[in-house]
Amino acid sequence: MKRHNFSAGPCILPKEVLLQASEAVMDFDNGLSLLEISHRSKPFVDVMENARALALELLGLEGKGYKALFLQGGASTQFLMVALNLLEKRAGYLNTGTWSDKAIKEARIYDDIYEVASSKDANFNYIPKGYDIPVEYDYFHCTSNNTIFGTQMKEFPKSPIPMVCDMSSDIFSRELDFSQFDLIYAGAQKNMGPAGATLVVVKEDILGKVSRKIPSMMDYKVHISKSSMFNTPPVFSVYVSMLTLQWLKNLGGIPAIEKENDKKAQLIYSEIDLNPLFKGYSTKADRSTMNATFNLVNEDLKETFETMVKEAGINGLNGHRSVGGYRASMYNALSLESVGVLVDVMSELERKA
Ligand SMILES: *Cc1c(COP(=O)(O)O)cnc(C)c1O
Repeated sequence: MKRHNFSAGPCILPKEVLLQASEAVMDFDNGLSLLEISHRSKPFVDVMENARALALELLGLEGKGYKALFLQGGASTQFLMVALNLLEKRAGYLNTGTWSDKAIKEARIYDDIYEVASSKDANFNYIPKGYDIPVEYDYFHCTSNNTIFGTQMKEFPKSPIPMVCDMSSDIFSRELDFSQFDLIYAGAQKNMGPAGATLVVVKEDILGKVSRKIPSMMDYKVHISKSSMFNTPPVFSVYVSMLTLQWLKNLGGIPAIEKENDKKAQLIYSEIDLNPLFKGYSTKADRSTMNATFNLVNEDLKETFETMVKEAGINGLNGHRSVGGYRASMYNALSLESVGVLVDVMSELERKA
């Protein structure tokens, strides 16, 4: 049976990428596996350089003073690393849910972080707007897409200070002026590849301004000076990320995938809005094109719906425990057809009920 993978992360990857990746595990370089060659060998150095270049190219940041790095420790390590590298006096954070909350908690080890705004009052079902960012602060941090709550920033503030963004769950999914950000980070496992690598894109001129000593592994400048090879990189994750970025480029890059992502989002949200058995979780204006969160109006239908979902080959639809209900994650590699299968199940439930 064909499976339709709506998992929030780790999540769906393009079939051809998985095929190429599995071949490289067996034979990448003259009979040797990708996993058993030196990361300093030319074939792997080329992979790393290609992955870094593709990331900048797809984001439109080539030749603009940015460096791309593939680091370890997940996006969660970036919560700490951002503060270590950029926080001297004070920073402002926009709190839009669990992930921003965690970023704030880590940065608070170094400073009593200022929350410029928060949507905690409504369990993060909307994105706060109209807040001020103090000019005297070191940086402003936001989360572009809130994977758990299904909200997404459609507009970014004109920040008078460096803007740092956690784009883990919507990087490479939509066109933005990426040069408005000074540092972008994203764990690979949501729109790029397997867990293990974290993409960091940083404008070099914001670095080197704090007085503290930074441990080498935590220092962006060290990783930049070693071309993202300060220590053994997560070779498999970097390789698969490179393949996915190449796949995206061949499709026509971010503008092409954004059109597909918009179609998928329109399809699911129109069903959520038209079908009286379901209600959406997030505020309409802030709905995420990557993670659609919704609930059954009548919980008595839970078992019937979930059985139908299972029979249709749909995987990973359960909502996060802090929201409940359902979450359809529709990352770049998920097809419009898969969203169609889910929408058919939802309307079939309406016919039955
Ligand atoms: C998943 C996720 C994270 C955590 O990523 P890890 O790589 O598991 O540390 C952080 N931020 C956002 C927005 C996420 O979706």
